[in-house]
Amino acid sequence: MKGPNNPEDLHFLLLPFMAPGHMLPMSDIAVLLALRGASVTLITTPLNAARLRPTLSHHHPLISLVALPFLPAPDSGLPDGCESFDALPSRDHEPAFFRATESLLAPTLRHLRAPGRAPPRCVIADAFLPWAREIAREFRAPRLVFHGCACFATLCFHNLIANGALARVGHEREQRIIVPGMPHEVEITQEQLQVDDTRLDDLRVEMWEAGEMADGVVVNSFEELEHEYLDVYREATGKDVWMIGPVSLSNKNPSNTMDRGGKASTNELRCLDWLDQREPKSVIYVSFGSIGRLSPPQTAELARALESSGRNFMWVIKGGNNDNGLPEEFKEEPITERRMVVHGWAPQVAILSHGAVGGFVTHCGWNSTLEGVCAGVPMVAWPLFAEQFLNEKLVVDVLRVGVRVGVERPSGWAGEGVGVVGVEAIERALEEVMDGGKEGVLRRMRARELGEMARKAVEVGGSSYVNMTRLIDYVSEHMYVNDDGT
Ligand code: UDP
Repeated sequence: MKGPNNPEDLHFLLLPFMAPGHMLPMSDIAVLLALRGASVTLITTPLNAARLRPTLSHHHPLISLVALPFLPAPDSGLPDGCESFDALPSRDHEPAFFRATESLLAPTLRHLRAPGRAPPRCVIADAFLPWAREIAREFRAPRLVFHGCACFATLCFHNLIANGALARVGHEREQRIIVPGMPHEVEITQEQLQVDDTRLDDLRVEMWEAGEMADGVVVNSFEELEHEYLDVYREATGKDVWMIGPVSLSNKNPSNTMDRGGKASTNELRCLDWLDQREPKSVIYVSFGSIGRLSPPQTAELARALESSGRNFMWVIKGGNNDNGLPEEFKEEPITERRMVVHGWAPQVAILSHGAVGGFVTHCGWNSTLEGVCAGVPMVAWPLFAEQFLNEKLVVDVLRVGVRVGVERPSGWAGEGVGVVGVEAIERALEEVMDGGKEGVLRRMRARELGEMARKAVEVGGSSYVNMTRLIDYVSEHMYVNDDGT
């Protein structure tokens, strides 16, 4: 038997759900594992592999990025080439997309069974891919689940389901629910929990069961940020939980950050040049993640507020350039002294860590939130969908590094729009985050401190670094047990 330091032996299989917010942290995890001498196979579909290749290729040969064909059922209704959540035409396609991921199971097994191929010694699979169980079972490898959320939100959902609270939730969208078993009171509305799409009920059950049967959980966060919830989560699940983040900090190489998740177009490449010419901490960075869009009236209100704030801003917009509510002057002149409007993919991690950025208007997707924490910038919380209302609570009420813009109802990622946050509310939030008097200074200070803690967590000897060592040790030990047949 070879030693555990032989990368062939210490082989991790990574199965990300196909959405940038899930694939990017998983590819960062691949990098972190490779940096520690493990070999990694990351399986995804051809179009997604093309997006990940620029960042992962730097770490070749320990990372093998495998592209397997994505074959949704002919009656799935998914358009050709729709291999990622950010390519879905509408929310109606969500259930079909989740189901279509199962088409990767058989080709993945075939790939792994090929003669001479090293077996996976650990499977890290996204919580949205419950079928990954089959793979771990066949190779008798521990299966770790990756939720892609904060520990806080994961714990909230765990407790809501485990205590039956979610099953008792009625149909009244304003019904307020106290999340059971939390270290402090957490109140949320039925609607903000975003579990009302009954077409996803079966999948939720499968995900829950697969999560319950997993051997452990990998979390993209760090102990200093969420230790309160980590302890409770460990107790509630009885599982090993490894906090190994913020994983985006694995992108040390500047070309990695520029290419992360998508090739920047010419316009986007100019982001950093534009920022170079702005005063330190003077720019508001606005982004609603990889899929989030605002309704046209909401876009118009935000444009007015950004203009009237008198501050510099960089605004990244998804979903095309047509009739999206943007004022004509923003379309005709996207780049001026004060503004830069980017359509498409922006190098977010590089932007956020630029010294000119002084505040971040975010939809509170967990990756963006954590990237904001790493950058040490205060945030305006503007949740749209998924668990983002919980992340807003963490940022505003617990960590106290953000302010609410005041969204009460989720509008969904596709910008269907339910109500519009008015220009005054947006202006107030921008002002609080960029200035905000004494409280603003304290908020900025807390944000900077958290950023420093995040960086320390991933340095040699930091909490996340040590947790990664523990995770690798856990897999190595399990490997010996298997090889001995005991
Ligand atoms: N992202 C990026 N450029 C973009 C949009 C998004 O680099 O133009 C990255 C962002 O840095 C984050 C991820 O995509 O790592 C989005 O994940 P998040 O959880 O914030 O939101 P989601 O897109 O899943 O709603």
